Amino acid sequence: MQKIKSYWQNFIDGDWVDGASGRIDIVNPGNGDILAQHALADAADVDRAVQAAKRVHASGVLTDMRPVERGRMVQAMGQYLIDHRDEIATMLSLEQGKPLWEAQVEVAGAARYFEYFGNQAETLEGRSIPLGAGYFDFTTNEPYGVSAQIIPWNFPVEMTARSLSAGLATGNTVVVKPPEMTPLSNAWFGHAAESVGWPKGTVNLVCGHGHEAGAALSAHPDINQVVFTGSVATGIAIASAAAKNVVPCVLELGGKSAAIVHSDADLEAMETDIRKGIFTNAGQVCSAMSRIIVHESRHDELVQRAVSIAESLSVGPGIERTQFGANMGPMISVAQRDRAVSLVSEAVSQGAALSAGGRAMNIPGAFLEPTVLTEVHPNMTIAKTEVFGPVLSVLTFREDNEAIEIANGTEYGLVGGVFTRDVDRATQVARQIRAGQVYVNEWFAGGVETPFGGYGKSGYGREKGREALWNYVQTKNIAIKLKGS
Ligand code: NAD
Repeated sequence: MQKIKSYWQNFIDGDWVDGASGRIDIVNPGNGDILAQHALADAADVDRAVQAAKRVHASGVLTDMRPVERGRMVQAMGQYLIDHRDEIATMLSLEQGKPLWEAQVEVAGAARYFEYFGNQAETLEGRSIPLGAGYFDFTTNEPYGVSAQIIPWNFPVEMTARSLSAGLATGNTVVVKPPEMTPLSNAWFGHAAESVGWPKGTVNLVCGHGHEAGAALSAHPDINQVVFTGSVATGIAIASAAAKNVVPCVLELGGKSAAIVHSDADLEAMETDIRKGIFTNAGQVCSAMSRIIVHESRHDELVQRAVSIAESLSVGPGIERTQFGANMGPMISVAQRDRAVSLVSEAVSQGAALSAGGRAMNIPGAFLEPTVLTEVHPNMTIAKTEVFGPVLSVLTFREDNEAIEIANGTEYGLVGGVFTRDVDRATQVARQIRAGQVYVNEWFAGGVETPFGGYGKSGYGREKGREALWNYVQTKNIAIKLKGS
């Protein structure tokens, strides 16, 4: 295995630099050991990064570039990630815990964002609006300027890629605040920016604590747009800070998403969806299938299948899980694991039944057994609270409208799913689910090309797809009075 550098720096204005707030230990959740240290930025470091990004934006270098050229540079960053895929995936697996094969998939997914948004760079056309013979009127779409991007620890490579690629493709400069628990794999975005040749200050990485560097970035008067992916509480804090400077936000927050399983569903085929839906990344997925609402006639069969999936997973350090398959790594930290265990205990005390797992594993690291809770009632805490761990809650329904009511019964609205062989029923259910996207017969169906975002407390704005581009530009209308008319 590659030797791990013991200390990692921030990337500000084209230089790799220390942080004024010292260093943070990065812990390997697969064994509890310290992997390395990372520089911690304070508000002054954040200010230097923002001023650098502001200077590059004001120079016009990105905005004046022909979009196809900008797009090619964005795509070259994706190619850089592919060229360094093994190194990045190894570091991601070590710092975050996910199986190495999942980390490989994540790096490929990150590169795909640069490919897709690089392609889109030259598609942002304006329109001409007829105002009669006396005028010529047209619109242009201009970048906001400095895009501030605050990243969570669960998919640190993909989440940074998602916002950074769209921000650059539309001509913004970017200050990224990587997550303080998993900042190491983000370093390759700095290396990619250097290798592609963006002007110094176009891409900046300022890792620091959320309450310090994150808060300073979101409240900075010289940022022009914020993209945040993370928890609801932090999203509210960031949106409030940005509002004071009248800066727009995209918020991608949590979820408590439900799969509705009808009596005619193909449960054998759905096994893959259950494994992917709730056990990928040890369930630390905003769009996880954390609830299944199954028709009472299929309840027993579904539970039997879900339990056998949970019990068949090989759980252990992600770095040892190199091959695609039925395996799972640790959670991000012992604190997150213990929070999940206490939510499971609370569910049991409220009357849920533990059909699989539910306990912290007695090995070093932040491991939780893959867990299936049954006899969950919609009013229980577990039915409404995001666990952000490998914990599936199974509920039942009798009438279709009851299923919809349960599915829509949380404050979230990120994704939903419906499993049925009846396309009319699927379409009707999909229309009634209050969520930004609905999966029919395949959990996580879609891709970089399909818009993604929340209803309700799951956030607002869309990332991915062409819809994402509109969050990174503002429309300018230019009306010209023609002489002699
Ligand atoms: P978090 O909100 O604690 O942290 C996310 C980021 O925000 C980190 O970089 C952190 O340092 C920063 N931060 C924390 N406090 C801040 C503050 N006051 N001001 C500015 N920045 C601050 O979230 P997390 O625990 O890292 O991630 C888990 C949560 O993220 C879950 O709720 C999950 O559902 C959600 N999530 C959503 C999506 C999505 O696309 N919708 C994707 C991944 C994660």
